[in-house]
Formats: sequence, C-alpha cells, structure tokens
Amino acid sequence: MIGITTPLVHLVGAGPGSPELLTVKASALLQEADAVLYDRLILPEMLEHVSPHAVAICVGRAPGGRGMAQEEVNDHLIRLARQGLRVVRLKGGDPMVFGRGGEEVQALVKAGVAVDLVPGLSSAWAALTLGGIPATHRGVSAVVTVVSGHEPERLPWPHLVGLGGTLVFLMAMAQLGAIAERLMAQGMSADTPAAVIEKASWPDQRMIVAPLRELAHAAEQQRMTPPAVVVVGHVVTVLPPIVGAP
Ligand code: SAH
Repeated sequence: MIGITTPLVHLVGAGPGSPELLTVKASALLQEADAVLYDRLILPEMLEHVSPHAVAICVGRAPGGRGMAQEEVNDHLIRLARQGLRVVRLKGGDPMVFGRGGEEVQALVKAGVAVDLVPGLSSAWAALTLGGIPATHRGVSAVVTVVSGHEPERLPWPHLVGLGGTLVFLMAMAQLGAIAERLMAQGMSADTPAAVIEKASWPDQRMIVAPLRELAHAAEQQRMTPPAVVVVGHVVTVLPPIVGAP
C-alpha cells in the first residue's frame, strides 16, 4: 500500500471463555492478527485461533496481583500499532463492560491511534443463560441491573433494591456476604433466590443456588471462586434446575 495508513487497534470482546462463543468477526481478526494482547480471563483454547506467526502477550493481572499496569498496556498497544502491525486487544466478555475498555480507547485516540470496536458476549448475560436463568421473565422481572460488586460501600443500595427486578453482580466474590447483608438491610427478603455461576462456558463451569441469607455461606462451602457472576432475584428459580446445566 502506498502512503501512510493510520495506526489501528482492534478492541475485541472474547465472550465469557469458550471459543465457541467468539463472534465470527473476533475469530477472523484473531487469525489475521500480527499481535494479540489478551487478559487473564482468556482461556488457552481461545489462543488456538491466533496465527502461529503472531505474538500473543498476556497483559492481565489477578485481582490485586501482579501484571502490567494499565499505562503499560496502553503504551504497548500504541507502539505495536505505530509499527503498522495488525493489533488485536482481546478482552474478556464485552470490552466495554467493566473491562477498562473505555480507558484504553481514550488513551489510543489521544495518541492518534484509531480503534475498531468489536463487541463480545458479556458474562453478565452469558452466565445467566448458561445457568438456565432468564435475565427477564414476564410477570417476574422486567428490569435487569448489572452492578460491579467490587466496592459495595459506593453502591446506591436503596435504589438497587427499590427497582425490584434482577440484580447481576460482577466482581462480587470477595464481597458476597457484604452484598447480601446490604440487600437485606434495605428490606429485600432473606428468602430471595440467588445464584453464583462460576466460570461460565468454561469446561469446569459450576453453579450454586441458595436463598439470599445463605448465599455467602453456600459459596464458601462449595469454594466458589472468581470469575463468577452473582444473580439475585426471583428469575433464579423460574426454570427447573436441569435447564442449562453444564
Ligand atoms: N468485560 C467482562 C467483565 C470484566 S470484569 C464481561 O463483559 O464479561 C471481570 C468479571 O467478569 C469477573 O469478576 C466476573 O464477575 C465476570 N466474568 C468474566 N468471565 C466470566 C465467566 N466466564 N464466568 C463468570 N463470570 C465471569
């Protein structure tokens, strides 16, 4: 090609983990990429879609653990794109849902790098469906609120309970007890059904269902760990447990 092309990064959602849940576009971009920067929640099976000639770099960090700082990730992306490489930034779920996708876009655009945004299937939706839980159900819930459970003290609890629909918490496992307590303190019934879906779409997906008052204890007993999605609301028990079981 003659002339100067604008450096470009494809910011791609990988879905919840299973390569079968990659979009057709994501899969094609992975095959064509020269460089793929991916998060910790990307399963090795997914990297089989990447050309053997490409470099694949894990930039993710465990919660509170070591890994590349966000600025380093941004700098890396900018440098690779300026080299004229086909760069894919692969993020779990949808890149714009609790994944700092927006911050990466801001940094790239500021550096004169164009961004191609490719949505992915967010775990916020996929975990429920894979667990056999309808996010909405006629007569049961017409509202779904997706919440970060990371800092419960910053959440508007009266509003969350007042909405009366389905509550979906991401990044909530370290705060499960505090979340349940705050919901009950705002008047939500302790019998409200709740579920934890761990590693949705992964080969070792697991799920527990318990009334809100027992949720944290049940999760601890079953040693449920991140990544997991927490669902609170009557939709949890709308379908028989067999539906959607892995
Ligand atoms: N952008 C991602 C969310 C990133 S925040 C998305 O759209 O899915 C990380 C949180 O996502 C985890 O703490 C967990 O709550 C959730 N998560 C991601 N993948 C998951 C999976 N396969 N199963 C269950 N929860 C998952």
